[in-house]
Amino acid sequence: MQCPICDAPTPPAPAFLIHRYDEGDIPVMVCGVCEHSFALEIPSASNAIRELYDSYYHEEKVSPPSPRQSARALRRLIERSYGAEARVIDIGCNTGSNLLEFGDTRWELHGVEPAAPAARMAREHTRATIHEGLLEDLDLPEAHFDYIIFNQVIEHIREPIAALQSIVRLLAPGGTLMLGTVDRQSRVARQMGKAWPMYYSTGHYHFFCDQSVTRMVEACGLAITRRRWGGAPMPRSWVPHRSEVDELVKYRFLPVKVARVLNSQAWAFMSMPWTRIPICDHIFVWARHST
Ligand SMILES: [Zn+2]
Repeated sequence: MQCPICDAPTPPAPAFLIHRYDEGDIPVMVCGVCEHSFALEIPSASNAIRELYDSYYHEEKVSPPSPRQSARALRRLIERSYGAEARVIDIGCNTGSNLLEFGDTRWELHGVEPAAPAARMAREHTRATIHEGLLEDLDLPEAHFDYIIFNQVIEHIREPIAALQSIVRLLAPGGTLMLGTVDRQSRVARQMGKAWPMYYSTGHYHFFCDQSVTRMVEACGLAITRRRWGGAPMPRSWVPHRSEVDELVKYRFLPVKVARVLNSQAWAFMSMPWTRIPICDHIFVWARHST
């Protein structure tokens, strides 16, 4: 078996097994060369995402886009580099929280969203052109976009390099790609080990780290210009969401007593703004065409 990021042969045995109630036991492999980690027995790429969207993004779970600090920060970055004229696309835009924030600019705005209820909501609440479907089924203009947002999507895709290559084709000369994903070498992830909630999200198949993200981006002809760590909301990573806590208890990763604490006072405590900074288990990189 080869590493999907660096092609090196991976160790014959998985590093560990995780159990997802909806997908069963999943062996997790770790590449000894680039330290990328990935789940085996991955359904075919399109099926994985289609099944995910079919089962998890029902109408009742979709809520309207809301103002977000991260969207404001992104807006400032785009303004700084591209000013008033920018062609921006958010791939995996969900209900359009980023696009909502960019609403009063003169930017050309596009969103890609496979889940019909989310796409409908994004269309209702933002002025962006929303392309409903998977990227491979859409006909988007090549070398067109100054800024591509590709956040929290790549970990769901079976062949991340092929997917990223098709996205890079959309990038205009001098354009910027912002990619965000999970970081398995973040402090939180290392401390939690196999109890790290990101291993249990349905449809998460790739668990990146700084090194494997860098290799992947470079394999697609881009060079990283900026790196940040974060997660929104970050405390969720440290104190798993209630349903995630329940799941961890069910699979005996967390003693019930610990889970009770996480579910009660600690939740409020860990949500204080000043506790947010060091607990970042998502990596964000900005990249441009390497020349
Ligand atoms: Zn590798």
